[in-house]
Amino acid sequence: MLAEISRLDITSGQDWDQGVPNSTGKVVVVTGAATGIGHAIAKRFAADGYRVAIVDLDEESACAAAASIAEETGGSALAAFADVAEFESCCAAHDRIVSEFGPVSVLVNNAGIMAQRLGRIEALPPEHFDQLLAIHVRGAVNWARLVTSAMRDAQFGRIINISSGNAKLAVPYRLAYVTAKKAILGITEALALETARDGITVNAILPGYIATQTLLDRADAGILDKDSFAERTPVGRWGRPDEIARAAAFLADADSGFITGSTLVVDGGITIRGDPDEDLSHPPSPKS
Ligand code: NAP
Repeated sequence: MLAEISRLDITSGQDWDQGVPNSTGKVVVVTGAATGIGHAIAKRFAADGYRVAIVDLDEESACAAAASIAEETGGSALAAFADVAEFESCCAAHDRIVSEFGPVSVLVNNAGIMAQRLGRIEALPPEHFDQLLAIHVRGAVNWARLVTSAMRDAQFGRIINISSGNAKLAVPYRLAYVTAKKAILGITEALALETARDGITVNAILPGYIATQTLLDRADAGILDKDSFAERTPVGRWGRPDEIARAAAFLADADSGFITGSTLVVDGGITIRGDPDEDLSHPPSPKS
């Protein structure tokens, strides 16, 4: 009987009735948050009232990010060093976060490296493949492993994995990156099932081309063509890091509890575009 009642219980556990947003005081960990998309996500969460832990390989940049986010938003942010690929390093960062902020309610697995095209598989260095999988895949699992037991205790948790449009639309010569980003969808779905009865949701965001400094530097160095990326994207522009942050904030919300194991594509339509040469600005003439 009790089980039946709990299955019919459709409340989200939100505390709006007390006039407090459901984000207030909750602890969020964002990995790779010293720069780029992670930084924008951390800033959004701090502005929304979460206590934000910025986890990054680059401790100096993470400290600077925490200080600027706290100042700009008036929220709480701390920096913690961790190499997400190394479990011991993640444990040390997690211990510090829990002792200073308390148990983690929201995890955003964002840390990653944007690999360049490396040529054919024959030329793919095995250590490059291992490194990409260690950071993107093992990194996401390391952090999920650390936070889920407290989430189960609280019967609430949100895990958001940053994958890529490349998980949907593969590109040649970036085999390790495509493999890693597709693997993140596997983690998302398997973990969503493992945690579904514990108030925990696990979802993935698939960004398209997002104008982070890392990619803008590559454009400046002539490694990628900024204009052609914008042209290939149906909405005709690059995405902004804060547009990914908005999607993360939506998935983290207590009211998003029925969304789990899903992928939220935030890519200006690029992964649904069949023919990149189709003119989206003008309809074809009736005779064509
Ligand atoms: P970014 O600006 O280069 O930021 C990535 C951050 O992750 C950096 O601060 C980096 O630190 C950190 N990091 C790298 N390896 C780490 C490790 N082992 N442990 C802890 N932190 C580590 O990249 P981004 O463009 O914001 O991308 C963020 C995520 O979105 C990545 O997972 C990426 O694959 C994904 N994504 C991005 C785009 C895009 O267009 N930008 C599109 C699709 C998906 P260091 O600077 O010290 O290396």
